[in-house]
Amino acid sequence: MERKNAWLKYDEEGRKTVFEFSERYRRFLSRCKTERECVSQVIEDAKAAGYEDLNEVVAQGKTLKPGDKVYCAIMGKSIALFHLGERPLEEGMNIVGAHIDSPRLDLKQNPLYEDGNLAMFETHYYGGVKKYQWVALPLALHGVVAKTDGTTVSVVLGEDPGDPVIGISDLLPHLGRTQMAKNAEKVVEGEDLNILVGSIPLEDEEKEPVKKRILEILKEKYQISEEDFQSAELEAVPAGEARDYGLDRSMLIAYGHDDRVCAYPSYQALLSLEAPRKTCVCLLVDKEEIGSVGATGMQSRFFENAVAEVINCAEEYSELKVRRALQNSCMLSSDVSAAFDPNYPDVMEKNNSAYFGKGLTFNKYTGSRGKSGSNDANAEYIARIRRVLDDADVSYQTAELGKVDQGGGGTIAYILANYGMEVIDSGVAVQNMHAPYEVVSKVDIYEAYRGYETFLREI
Ligand code: MN
Ligand code: MN
Repeated sequence: MERKNAWLKYDEEGRKTVFEFSERYRRFLSRCKTERECVSQVIEDAKAAGYEDLNEVVAQGKTLKPGDKVYCAIMGKSIALFHLGERPLEEGMNIVGAHIDSPRLDLKQNPLYEDGNLAMFETHYYGGVKKYQWVALPLALHGVVAKTDGTTVSVVLGEDPGDPVIGISDLLPHLGRTQMAKNAEKVVEGEDLNILVGSIPLEDEEKEPVKKRILEILKEKYQISEEDFQSAELEAVPAGEARDYGLDRSMLIAYGHDDRVCAYPSYQALLSLEAPRKTCVCLLVDKEEIGSVGATGMQSRFFENAVAEVINCAEEYSELKVRRALQNSCMLSSDVSAAFDPNYPDVMEKNNSAYFGKGLTFNKYTGSRGKSGSNDANAEYIARIRRVLDDADVSYQTAELGKVDQGGGGTIAYILANYGMEVIDSGVAVQNMHAPYEVVSKVDIYEAYRGYETFLREI
């Protein structure tokens, strides 16, 4: 059972391949910090690999045949990609899925105000964050502002080295006595996460002159007004690029590894496939961090609808075929796992922890308090996966998210399992999960890619 460190499997040439793959991921991650940005990039890459928009295929009344590739995006925030296989769809699909939303600070609908001669943005945090980690950091603003004239303005502020950044202040230790005595949950509270955005007053203006000047800048730079914030989705995220981490450059530190470190290798694995036997699918979804709800979350019917459209374009349609296609499918639900951390060994059980360098991590079950809420993967299914990964010499490990009763978490696995398909949680181990900067091992990213590719081809 001794799991060899995956780095030791690779000679110099092999390590070069590992580093090159993670460099492509690093650039993807530096550019794609929101679900919308991820979907846009995936569409661009998919088109270059020969994928067509399913909506256009449907509109033009085209038929789909084995080897054809289509994608279906919903509201620009979730996407399903299909590479049609030789076998009929009702025999089931091989699906890799991950989420592309990450914890962050969303601007409120009425965000801008002035206080103490400073212009500020109100925020509402998204997902499970330790709020005290989000202060005293350079933040960037990403998102869209939809205007009543039907146009949408894209905003990326704080990423170009010439751009200004914004941020949230913290209290100086000299005046922090009361603060430091508080419980960590209360050290910085949700309503304290206000972003400082400006301090120069507009000339000859009595009321809120600093705010008014910021509004002038917004008008000039983005052609948006204060009212337009009501129909905006603006996300404050840590500014700057993903970076190599460690003296040996073996890791990457970045915002948003959860869960793009699974999303990126998942879709790259699909794009690299040639003539699959079964139809292969990559599913990249929004809203996992807040319970997979809403039209673009995994609980939405959009994927089921997309499968129905694909079957309708590929063969004689029946609802029974859609149900069979879903129930006969196999899925890797990919999400990050907690990596063993020598600074915090107490929350881990060493025999069932994920370790950096040991490859793709499988979680038979997640959940908390007696596996509650978990998709408990089927033993026979795990055996099949073990066989194909062993044959392809993919490094993998099995783990739980921390000690029994220490906490827990959920993923999208249980939602797909509702169709009666085989699903298991898999993914890449992460340190500092949900912190503004998370850390992963480069060889684990590469083993995830190889694992997903093997799964799609062989299972
Ligand atoms: Mn998460
Ligand atoms: Mn996640």
